Amino acid sequence: MPLDRLGRPLRDLRISVTDRCNFRCTYCMPREIFGRDFEFLRREDLLTFEEITRLTQLFAHLGVEKIRLTGGEPLLRRDLESLVEMLAHVKGIRDLTITTNGSLLTREKARALKDAGLHRISISLDSLDDDVFRAMNDVNFPVQRVLDAIDAANEAGLWPIKIDMVVKRGVNEKSIVEMARRFRGTGHIVRFIEYMDVGTTNGWRMEDVVPSREVVERIGREWPVEPAHPNYFGEVAERWKYRDGEGEFGVISSVTQPFCGSCTRARLTADGQLYLCLFATEGHDLRQGLRHRASDEEILDAIRVAWRGRDDRYSEIRSSETAGLAKVEMSRIGG
Ligand code: SF4
Repeated sequence: MPLDRLGRPLRDLRISVTDRCNFRCTYCMPREIFGRDFEFLRREDLLTFEEITRLTQLFAHLGVEKIRLTGGEPLLRRDLESLVEMLAHVKGIRDLTITTNGSLLTREKARALKDAGLHRISISLDSLDDDVFRAMNDVNFPVQRVLDAIDAANEAGLWPIKIDMVVKRGVNEKSIVEMARRFRGTGHIVRFIEYMDVGTTNGWRMEDVVPSREVVERIGREWPVEPAHPNYFGEVAERWKYRDGEGEFGVISSVTQPFCGSCTRARLTADGQLYLCLFATEGHDLRQGLRHRASDEEILDAIRVAWRGRDDRYSEIRSSETAGLAKVEMSRIGG
């Protein structure tokens, strides 16, 4: 298992299966940039399911145990359950999950993903206030349909269901307690995510960040809470549990409490570029080798060399100097 320059192992691989999305969330894919004329990846640019599976086998050989499928919106990729089935059979993968906006997650789809071998699911929902949510996704998509998707995932047994909410000051912080109230006692885990300066298009400002500390305080004023131990080394969310036993929630504090020291995540774009950090400016092309008859050992070496050379810790060095970096867009690597 290769270690990077900061002694971190490679454990998690996030695989983007498409750079397209049917939402235009203002903090990720603003419509002004990702409009009608935006050139998304062509079909032939995308890794095939066989290529993704081969890469996953090689990453598993190097220690990867957890796979998260992302996008854009991953359920836009046709017949995704076939890929899930292929990945579910990869030796060494113990945790297979997906992050989706829920818009295409019907009962049939949830059941099909579960039957194919998906273990669990994360569904994004930034507010229960319909006007706020419709404005944030910027395609007028209603809250109720995401709640229906959460029910569909629940019925299919894709547990635990994590519900990801990006909190932006002046936009949806009033929804924090409402979200906590709605999912307390359900077994579902809300994760409150600090608004991040991902990519180069979302106009990020520090004053728009609601620190996780404030999120915990707001919830703690309603119900007594206490910190809970991480489930594993490198877990992204800091866990908090309700003292009355009504479950837990998480906060993801990339801006105010960076966690780069335990970051074991690599990211693969839909066209086969390996990124070593969410805020990286460059990737390592793995598709070239796949499509030019490289041997498994040659591709393993390419991954090893990339990972061993990794010293990324963007969130720890974020400053006015890093503000202008040409960081990869979130919709290309899926968070
Ligand atoms: S900023 Fe980069 S190195 Fe730090 S936790 Fe995020 S992805 Fe990992």
